Amino acid sequence: MKQAIVVFNSGSTSLKFGAYAVDSDADPAALSLLCVGRIDSIEGDPHFFVKDAAGKSLAAHEWGEGHAIDHAVALQHVITWLATHLSEKTIVAAGHRVVLGAMRYDAPVRIDGEVLDYLDSLVAMEPSHQRLNIAGARAFAEAFPEVPQVACFDNSFHRTMPEVAQTYALPKEVRDAGVRHWGCHGISYDYISRQMPKFAPQARRVIVAHLGGGTSLCAMQGGRSVETTMGFSALSGLPMATRSGDIPPGALFYLLRSHRFDVAALEKMLYERAGLLGLSGISGDMRVLLGSADPQAIAAVAQFVYAMTKFIGAYTAVLGGLDALVFTAGIGENSAPLRAASCGQLAWLGVKLDEHANTAGGPRISAADSAVSVWVIPTDEELMIAQYTLALLGPC
Ligand code: ADP
Repeated sequence: MKQAIVVFNSGSTSLKFGAYAVDSDADPAALSLLCVGRIDSIEGDPHFFVKDAAGKSLAAHEWGEGHAIDHAVALQHVITWLATHLSEKTIVAAGHRVVLGAMRYDAPVRIDGEVLDYLDSLVAMEPSHQRLNIAGARAFAEAFPEVPQVACFDNSFHRTMPEVAQTYALPKEVRDAGVRHWGCHGISYDYISRQMPKFAPQARRVIVAHLGGGTSLCAMQGGRSVETTMGFSALSGLPMATRSGDIPPGALFYLLRSHRFDVAALEKMLYERAGLLGLSGISGDMRVLLGSADPQAIAAVAQFVYAMTKFIGAYTAVLGGLDALVFTAGIGENSAPLRAASCGQLAWLGVKLDEHANTAGGPRISAADSAVSVWVIPTDEELMIAQYTLALLGPC
């Protein structure tokens, strides 16, 4: 196994990456993990760590508290580390998570100058991640100009939503300009959808809760997305760590008109100071909030659970019932109390939690006689990106 695929997943405050060994028959299912790592808190207290497939630490680095870096420095650090660590292998491809392919791309695409220019043109639609996703592809191309790269889109998975779910009640010219229910977290949802037959092969009507720093729900029918809480941008739906979730448009006009915010300040507030952080005034980190007795922290968690309950009710109606509920991503995979609180609100659906299994982390956390099976399934966006990349490029 001399060939490797590398993958990049740039978030607003983190950069995740991985490398996979490619078997000579180039079967996407045959990818094996070489290493996976991340730089967290890029603009706060940046720290880099990477581990091998067995979870053993391969490297770690801290820049020191108060020593903020930017995404360009973070990318350079990761690319240099990968180049050194994989020096015995040939890097044959790079895959990138890109939030928006919008009107032109609804499936992974090989990156060239024209593709990058189009993706660049979408930054105004998706200001939080798109720019960083593209920067990753450009930085990698500078270091490895001969290596093919693939853009894998977070909204692709949601293109199966019925037209009625993808459309906003706006005039045609506005809809044609791309104001559409694009959705997000599709790479994660696709991964979970492919895992479902292993866990609950009979489940056709499924809601997956991707609860990380960004949070969303996806209603799936037969493994395909039919609804999702992220809308036009990554601001919609549930409250997130620091993003607001749904806010009535009238409130935004009011804030702009009352001169308390200009557009840039409003956008920054909605992305960086809202959500769990805004509600609690303490932290956007669910761990901190769950561990706090402060009434504001308790209220923020309650609001998060309330929003989930509301959407799960609506999506159960969309699906015509519910067979399975899946928790994934940082909060979904790790927080038994949050899962218990959410499931507690779903007793009317016949959801019965197995407390012991929930504390143990699953995979099945519902009681044997629960009308809806409930699961904890770890997501793996990096592996999914590597599989898309290999599937598109074929034998390298
Ligand atoms: P991202 O959304 O940034 O890609 P993750 O899916 O890893 O990242 O989710 C990160 C979030 O998961 C953080 O906001 C963190 O608070 C939360 N988290 C991680 N572990 C726990 C835990 N044990 N309990 C509650 N929240 C957790």
